[in-house]
Amino acid sequence: MRIAIVHKDRCHAKKCGTECIIYCPRVRTGDETIIIGEDGKAVISEELCVGCGICIKKCPFDAIDIVSLPEELEHPVHRYGKNGFALYGLPIPLEGKVTGILGANGIGKSTAVKILSGQLRPNLGNFDTEVAWEEIFKRYAGTELFDYLQNVSKKSLKIASKPQYIDYIPKVFTGTVRALLKKTDERNKLSEMLPALKLNAILEHDISTLSGGELQRVAIAACLARDADLYFLDEITPFLDIYQRIAAAKLIRELAAERPVVVVEHDLAILDMLADTVHVGYGKPAVFGIITRPKGVRVGINQYLEGFLTEENVRFRTTAVVFEKRAHDKGSNREDLFELPAMTKEYESFHLTVSGGTIRSGEVLGVVGANGMGKSTFAKLLAGVETPTTGKMESSLRISYKPQYIKADTSDSVEMYLRRCTTKFDTSYYQHEIIESLSLEPILQSSVDTLSGGELQRVTIAGCLSRDADVYILDEPSAHLDVEQRVKVTRMIKHHAEGKQVGIMVIDHDIYLIDMISERILVFEGEPGISGTAAGPFKMRDGMNRFLDALNVTFRRDQSGRPRINKPGSFLDREQKGSGEFYYYTADEV
Ligand code: ADP
Ligand code: ADP
Ligand code: MG
Repeated sequence: MRIAIVHKDRCHAKKCGTECIIYCPRVRTGDETIIIGEDGKAVISEELCVGCGICIKKCPFDAIDIVSLPEELEHPVHRYGKNGFALYGLPIPLEGKVTGILGANGIGKSTAVKILSGQLRPNLGNFDTEVAWEEIFKRYAGTELFDYLQNVSKKSLKIASKPQYIDYIPKVFTGTVRALLKKTDERNKLSEMLPALKLNAILEHDISTLSGGELQRVAIAACLARDADLYFLDEITPFLDIYQRIAAAKLIRELAAERPVVVVEHDLAILDMLADTVHVGYGKPAVFGIITRPKGVRVGINQYLEGFLTEENVRFRTTAVVFEKRAHDKGSNREDLFELPAMTKEYESFHLTVSGGTIRSGEVLGVVGANGMGKSTFAKLLAGVETPTTGKMESSLRISYKPQYIKADTSDSVEMYLRRCTTKFDTSYYQHEIIESLSLEPILQSSVDTLSGGELQRVTIAGCLSRDADVYILDEPSAHLDVEQRVKVTRMIKHHAEGKQVGIMVIDHDIYLIDMISERILVFEGEPGISGTAAGPFKMRDGMNRFLDALNVTFRRDQSGRPRINKPGSFLDREQKGSGEFYYYTADEV
């Protein structure tokens, strides 16, 4: 079974020499294996193609993928037309449960949910004629989805969904938070949700003035307030702090007691406490995706991190993601690179105090703390984007900074943008360390203002690390990245710090990412929106204890060593709080 994919956004037959056709050995012998279709894009015959792979290499725009699949994958659930993305398998929404989908961006999660919600009738891979529901039922006879799809076919399902990218909301809605939420309050539950999500204070704010974290919570409330048969939330955590992530997760679990909920989430500590079962999605993003049968949430996440799916007997990643049980501080033999000056910043209603600290050559310093404590303000002071009210930054220090909220403010191509950040673009080091690590090859020719949120994040991380600097600051690099990308970004940032002997500060709320990336940690404390101070840098164990103590959250370890959030008030939770061990097991003796 072979499928050929033409990425239409990247195929420009008018701008190339139709290399795919010219070099195709089958075309040379007279077959019409590849032609240019009416839309000016390549069309590849999967029947005639022999899978030599020459066209993939010759295409100047990386627009072709050809993959051989095992025989049992002969029948996709859906195919987006000839040479389009192929989806195999569907998640199963369950009454009373939160069903998680765990998988890379572009693996077909949204497509699967569109099918479950009746927005998209699955075509079983036949795109020439419309497939009758009878045929679809035949395929699913005797499976858990049979009854479900019967309902879908009667169009009796109403779905409430929160999309992955929420920045479109201010573009389609003008008015206050109160006005927007009122329209969605179909179950009369808003009054319960507002305090949980701490939205009361911003009810009169205009949607266009909200921060990303505020908008995210409004979007979650708007979705959960609806009266629907199925709820779908695509990523709930971007721009939320851990406290808000846990609060949102609790609300979703409450709703799930009454209605089936499907979630996509890349913050695995949160997915772990949020979902009952997970379906792993794997394959090749934008080419094909396979959704597994449901797995228990703990086992599913562990298999995902391991890179090996036991029931399916499939290895989809060569390396496993592992957690260290002890706090990892290699830092004692590092040299101090830079002394943070004592600084303050006064805004009308917010006051930030930084009392000092050092950054060391080659280290990654994690920065944690609730939202509204001044983390981003601190980053802006260091980067020179804002000037401190008292104190002064050393002007000779070169800082490269990636803001939390990134705007695509150029129609230049990704390659042009990156070439402006570095003169080393053509070196093999740069190609390997930056371009390959972040999988940017396929989008190098796309213009920056057409990228998806996750693509833009990767491009801006690349841009930030490309500049020559002494200290790099990345404010929430995990937003909109899938797990694979988070793991790659973590490795790459550590490598960059070590290789260039620079200091890198990473502000983030994904606790697994912070755990894996940081050597030491800076903890922001205070009263959100009123005052904040930066404490530390601390050793990991001390910093995590201090941070999690303030949040009142403890983590235990499962057999694989993965940290899991304890249920509040559970035996382990009480025991760990008593002994003051919130995260790491073993004493840090370094
Ligand atoms: P995910 O939700 O896992 O990020 P999606 O289901 O949104 O993935 O998309 C999977 C792939 O399907 C995309 O990479 C894209 O190539 C393709 N795709 C999505 N929607 C369409 C469409 N309407 N027409 C053609 N291809 C599409
Ligand atoms: P964090 O990154 O920890 O979430 P921020 O640094 O973004 O925190 O914000 C801290 C506080 O400072 C917030 O209450 C925010 O409203 C306020 N603030 C941030 N920037 C400005 C500004 N330019 N003018 C006035 N207040 C601001
Ligand atoms: Mg911030």
